[in-house]
Parts: sequence; structure tokens; C-alpha cells
Amino acid sequence: MKCSIEGCPGEYEERRIVHTVRHQGQVIVIDGVPAEVCSVCGDVLLKPETVRRIEALLRIASRPARTVPLYKYV
Ligand SMILES: [Zn+2]
Repeated sequence: MKCSIEGCPGEYEERRIVHTVRHQGQVIVIDGVPAEVCSVCGDVLLKPETVRRIEALLRIASRPARTVPLYKYV
């Protein structure tokens, strides 16, 4: 599929990404999220079903599979 960013000649390709969301004031990182990523500009598209799955995951999220250090840009 062609990239939706104006003037970008890239195409989306299926990739697994690290997706970051803010949930109830907390930063949540989900690894291995399937997404369409533009090979040129890096624009990311999530399918509606993927977004729904992430929301469901956040609702039932009890213990993360792993924890990572979070750094803040200062
Ligand atoms: Zn693009």
C-alpha cells in the first residue's frame, strides 16, 4: 500500500514494532506489535483490530512480561 504522507514515494510494509502508549498516566511499552511501516518516512499505521487488541491488553494488563528502564529526555 502506498504511503499516505503527501509527497512520500514510500510503501507500507508489514513489520513488528515497539509501540508506546500512555495509559492512566503511565507509559506502557508493547513489543512485537504488528504494524504497517513506511519504508521511506517511517510513518506507522495500526490496523483497527490491532488497536482494539492493545486496548484489551491494557485492560487486563496485570504484570508485564518484562520491565525496561525508562529515561526521560532532559
Ligand atoms: Zn512515507
